[in-house]
Amino acid sequence: VAVIGAGPAGIYTADALTHDDDGPAEVDLIERLPVPYGLLRYGVAPDHLKIKAVGEALRKILERPSVRLFANVAVGEDVTVDQLRDRYDAIIYCLGASADRSMGIAGEELPGSASATEFVSWYNGHPDRESHDLSEVRAVAVVGVGNVALDVARMLLVEPADLEPTDVTEDVLTVLRASAVTDVHIFGRRAAQHVKFTTKELRELGELTNVDVLVAGENLPDEVPADLTPMAKRNVAVFQEWSERTAEGRPRRLHMHFRARPAEVLGDDRVRALRLERTTADGGGTGELFDVPVDRVLRSVGYRAVPVPGVPFDSESHTVPTVDHRVLRDGEPSPGEYAVGWAKRGATGVLGTNRSDATETIRVVTADAAQLRARRVDEPPGVGDLLVDAGVRFVDKSRWLTILDVEAEEGAATGRGRVKLADWDRLLEAAGLVDLT
Ligand code: NAP
Repeated sequence: VAVIGAGPAGIYTADALTHDDDGPAEVDLIERLPVPYGLLRYGVAPDHLKIKAVGEALRKILERPSVRLFANVAVGEDVTVDQLRDRYDAIIYCLGASADRSMGIAGEELPGSASATEFVSWYNGHPDRESHDLSEVRAVAVVGVGNVALDVARMLLVEPADLEPTDVTEDVLTVLRASAVTDVHIFGRRAAQHVKFTTKELRELGELTNVDVLVAGENLPDEVPADLTPMAKRNVAVFQEWSERTAEGRPRRLHMHFRARPAEVLGDDRVRALRLERTTADGGGTGELFDVPVDRVLRSVGYRAVPVPGVPFDSESHTVPTVDHRVLRDGEPSPGEYAVGWAKRGATGVLGTNRSDATETIRVVTADAAQLRARRVDEPPGVGDLLVDAGVRFVDKSRWLTILDVEAEEGAATGRGRVKLADWDRLLEAAGLVDLT
């Protein structure tokens, strides 16, 4: 089986295919980046050490002899989907959702307006990242009230010293140490009970040292509606507790705003303010506009998948179309093609959601197995010889472990634990695929 994408969804899929040691499945994990782990490495915030520790479990799956790794290989460029279809019984797309959504308002393209996705990639040392400079940024607007918004706000407000025990790169620490940020505003377009935060992550913001958390009480419901989910009740209780706090003159402030819908990013050569429209509790417009002066706008309004050449893609839902986990080509289930994770479901759910998704999908693959073996074209199995013939240099498991060793050495040189390599060249050099000397 070829599994395209070695993020958590891909590795959990490999797990579901190979956890039965007597099972016949052999899995080739094919990954565009030079390293596996997808959003665990490049999405989960560096200070979320407990979630990052899931990497240990993923590593055990990768260590299985029946799982091979072909990283630094772009499907659709280095190898085509048709080539893969001839060589595997099944292909499972675990492509994730790497692009951002836009707010669709004027001024969104101004310098200083960016997506949370870009900011997350930056602080997580993604090799495709752009640099960020916060030395002249005092106030930041974060639009959207999901967990990514919480991560972004926390990384803007955290004491850089608290990140030193993490794998965050030295250049990120340098930027955060020079940051001029004093105020972070989070804007939700509906009322407080509609936020998508998980309460545990929300509470973390209220525990940051050197940060006053400010919630305007008039933004909160007078009475907590009785029909709320337990999570919504807990979240509203956190906001109510925060609204009773008095500012203690700490150097940084977090401002929570509800019922505030972004209307326009204002500025000239750069962002100067965010214009918002007051809404009703459900997000309907009231026509009342107000401006909040900010130097940066980070939209955190969700992720979307990007098309990969040769892989069916629904450009309205931004997903790989499926029915019962089977990929649709021209509206019909395509034999031997499946999808798992955000590329199929959209960008919702946490790591564990992908695990159950993988298990359910593999149940369908197993049900199809006899039919799949019957359709395999008589090509040598696996992708290795194709890549060698095409001169594509891939990162296998041993080269990936070498990258991790070099990252550990890099951290030790500055008295820290493992620190990520963040450039393509440095990653490929560490893997022994290029010589930069
Ligand atoms: P999300 O949870 O779907 O939140 C997106 C937010 O954007 C919502 O508040 C939504 O508001 C808002 N929004 C959408 N369009 C908007 C617009 N045009 N203007 C203003 N607001 C808009 O997405 P996410 O934060 O990107 O997270 C993605 C997934 O990753 C989630 O399942 C999340 O739990 C998970 N995640 C988990 C962790 C963790 O466990 N620590 C960390 C990061 C991410 P409406 O509700 O009004 O549409």
